Amino acid sequence: MSAAIEIHNATKSYGGRTVLKGVDLTLAAGTVTVILGPSGSGKSTLLRAINHLEKLDEGYVALGGELIGVTVRGDRLKERRERDILRQRSRIGFVFQNFNLFPHLTVLENVVEAPVAQGVRAADARSRALALLTRVGLADKASAYPRQLSGGQQQRVAIARALALDPDVLLFDEPTSALDPELVGEVLQVIRTLAGSGKTLVVVTHEIGFAREVADHVVFLDEGVLLEQGPPAEVLAAPRHPRTRDFLDKVL
Ligand code: ADP
Ligand code: MG
Repeated sequence: MSAAIEIHNATKSYGGRTVLKGVDLTLAAGTVTVILGPSGSGKSTLLRAINHLEKLDEGYVALGGELIGVTVRGDRLKERRERDILRQRSRIGFVFQNFNLFPHLTVLENVVEAPVAQGVRAADARSRALALLTRVGLADKASAYPRQLSGGQQQRVAIARALALDPDVLLFDEPTSALDPELVGEVLQVIRTLAGSGKTLVVVTHEIGFAREVADHVVFLDEGVLLEQGPPAEVLAAPRHPRTRDFLDKVL
């Protein structure tokens, strides 16, 4: 079962500077959303808020209709309960720009770590991890260490790891921007195979070709404001806002 994500009035400041300015966004279950926007526009902060790595100053994020940690103008309507956050987070996989694999663990150990911590039997976690590594084309690297792999291979392991708890939602924060250009394609290909799998995917990327081909919904964020959203055929092919046009001219 996948989950829709509702973001309402997401507002966040750092040291007096507001980096998310009341973002409203609904992501339908099982769809692929690509978030575009210049550096510093708040894309990572928004993803981190979905995963509760970032606490909003105002607004809320709901996952599958379930609210956690509502904050409205300082009045806590509901306590942000650590247990609820951990439970929601276990339904969300996160793939980072710099892979963030555990360097001292093998590829297989990286993938089994979270399920085993959650109480899955070691043998079950291991066979599932091997199936996931096969899915990302890296079954033969199960006993290798991250440093022995290319960046593209490391990111594919990170995707397998993010899938290990069979999450409803997968968040990707610029998954290919740390890669040499010739390695981008293999990672995008793996992400492409996850589209239409029933999971809800949110991908921050500057890969416009990928967005055009794979996204159901494209969002353009600029200085903490959601300036434009819609299907790729609208936002990418016929952007309404001049800032979206400027951005696309630069990255295309
Ligand atoms: P993007 O991912 O679109 O590049 P971010 O969400 O990372 O943007 O950051 C938005 C703004 O918030 C940037 O100006 C950044 O410097 C600032 N910022 C992000 N995280 C922090 C933090 N933990 N402390 C202070 N400022 C931050
Ligand atoms: Mg970022």
